[in-house]
Amino acid sequence: MQKLIKFKPIKPLLTGETLDTLTAAVVEAGFPAFRALQVMEWVYKQYVTTWGEMVNVPKALKEWLESRYTFQASSLVLVKGASDVTEKHLLRQGDGSLIETVLIRYPQRGVGADESRKTICVSSQVGCAYGCKFCASGLDGWKRHLFAGEIVDQVLHICRAEAKREADGVPFDNIVFMGMGEPLANYDHVMRAITILNAPWGLHFGGRRITVSTSGLVPEILKLAEEPVSFRLAISLHGATNPVRDKIMPVNRKYPLEMLLPAVKAFAEKRGRMITLEYILIDGINDGLDQAEILSKIAKDLHAHVNLIPYNKVEGLRWVRPNIMRQTAFHDVLKAAGASSTIRKEKGHDIAAACGQLRLQVQQEETAAEKQGAEGLAADE
Ligand code: SAH
Ligand code: SF4
Repeated sequence: MQKLIKFKPIKPLLTGETLDTLTAAVVEAGFPAFRALQVMEWVYKQYVTTWGEMVNVPKALKEWLESRYTFQASSLVLVKGASDVTEKHLLRQGDGSLIETVLIRYPQRGVGADESRKTICVSSQVGCAYGCKFCASGLDGWKRHLFAGEIVDQVLHICRAEAKREADGVPFDNIVFMGMGEPLANYDHVMRAITILNAPWGLHFGGRRITVSTSGLVPEILKLAEEPVSFRLAISLHGATNPVRDKIMPVNRKYPLEMLLPAVKAFAEKRGRMITLEYILIDGINDGLDQAEILSKIAKDLHAHVNLIPYNKVEGLRWVRPNIMRQTAFHDVLKAAGASSTIRKEKGHDIAAACGQLRLQVQQEETAAEKQGAEGLAADE
């Protein structure tokens, strides 16, 4: 069951419309159907940000569109680390909520910095209700789902920023739903956003380059297997047995491994696609070699690839990353067992994995400033 979203933009978001819904609205308002495609081209091929820039769209239609839709779902608050591997964009939504979108540049060996691979990490909710013990996004609880238009808008923000820097093509290689929130808890909006990102009239971005990451919502994983757009699936496993997973991921009590693993297998078999198992290495919690042995068996049975992620420290949480020797020993067990696996070394990805921290920091600063302001006012009275 989807929870009710209390916030509703006053006008629907343009970036949440499909060609079908926009065409129907445009025709109903008395304009020719082909105008809807023209508008989509300005948004997704030219990356314009104002109605005025749509120069081949008649004035009357632009006025009608403006009265009916919100063009930009969010405004940019700040960009952190612009010259770094990881660039964090903090965006403020229509209701004041803060979310993070991250651009990660992986330098490619032997080529210049300009030719690095780029991944956009998007958020699917404001906060997260799943409360994994190691994660910054869950720290502050769950506020609401993001609308499809707010998810698409995150990608467009990065497109525009990168298009200014680079002349041709869609300026990135992958989109991952690994930012704040649990994408499968916001199923309908996430699927609609993927449809818009994938459609020829939209961003026309290949489904094989889109990854949805989940903490393991079993009914939704089974439903995913039936979706028309084919994208990649990553499972945040982080524990190879129920006792270990229970300790760090409350969702495991609802969907323990004996329910999760068959669902993942059914998905993989139905889609014929290799899935990824994400496994954060946390010192003394889940990095024992017995876990590595069991993880190898799980991965081989699912024909899955294991992505080992050395834990990224989150302020206020007590977990730490194991030392290099422990990380290597864990990885060696997987390799010896013949399980496909890699260990993340890129600095950028560590930071991205801990998406949610910048939002927390700014939110805390704003609350402190508001409190100070209120105290200041009280003192003035
Ligand atoms: N809710 C979804 C997607 C967002 S989390 C999910 O859990 O899969 C994206 C990834 O970042 C997950 O694999 C998550 O476990 C990981 N992550 C969260 N906090 C982290 C941290 N402090 N260090 C490293 N990875 C982290
Ligand atoms: Fe939510 Fe994923 Fe973080 Fe768990 S790891 S709290 S599901 S965002």
